[in-house]
Amino acid sequence: MHPIVDMSPRVRILREVKCHSCGTLFTPKAPNQKYCGLACQKQALKKAKPRQRFHALRCRNCGKSFVPQKPNQLDCCLACHHQWINRRRQLERAERRLEKWAAALRWSEEEAERVNEALKDALDPCPM
Ligand SMILES: [Zn+2]
Ligand SMILES: [Zn+2]
Repeated sequence: MHPIVDMSPRVRILREVKCHSCGTLFTPKAPNQKYCGLACQKQALKKAKPRQRFHALRCRNCGKSFVPQKPNQLDCCLACHHQWINRRRQLERAERRLEKWAAALRWSEEEAERVNEALKDALDPCPM
């Protein structure tokens, strides 16, 4: 073994490394430089892009599996997006209507009870 003694610690000698893209040996200018040049870096980024794609999702509207193009895309296509918004709006409207009905029902039950009590009072034979 030949121990390597760095005689000038202030000057870091960077050894030749293989370019991660084209494989040619080059002397990096920075310790974390992976590519011989900008062209290789760009090419590597382009190649790496498909791996950075989003996971396939299920469309909220039609249930079809799709790969979103945007981080917050939840529908497979614009048509499905609009359809889903319409459906949600309809659902919200139906829910509101149901709430109104429930409120009306609650009110009429109370009212019916009050009427019942009044009727019972009226029909009760006089205790005297
Ligand atoms: Zn290269
Ligand atoms: Zn869809």
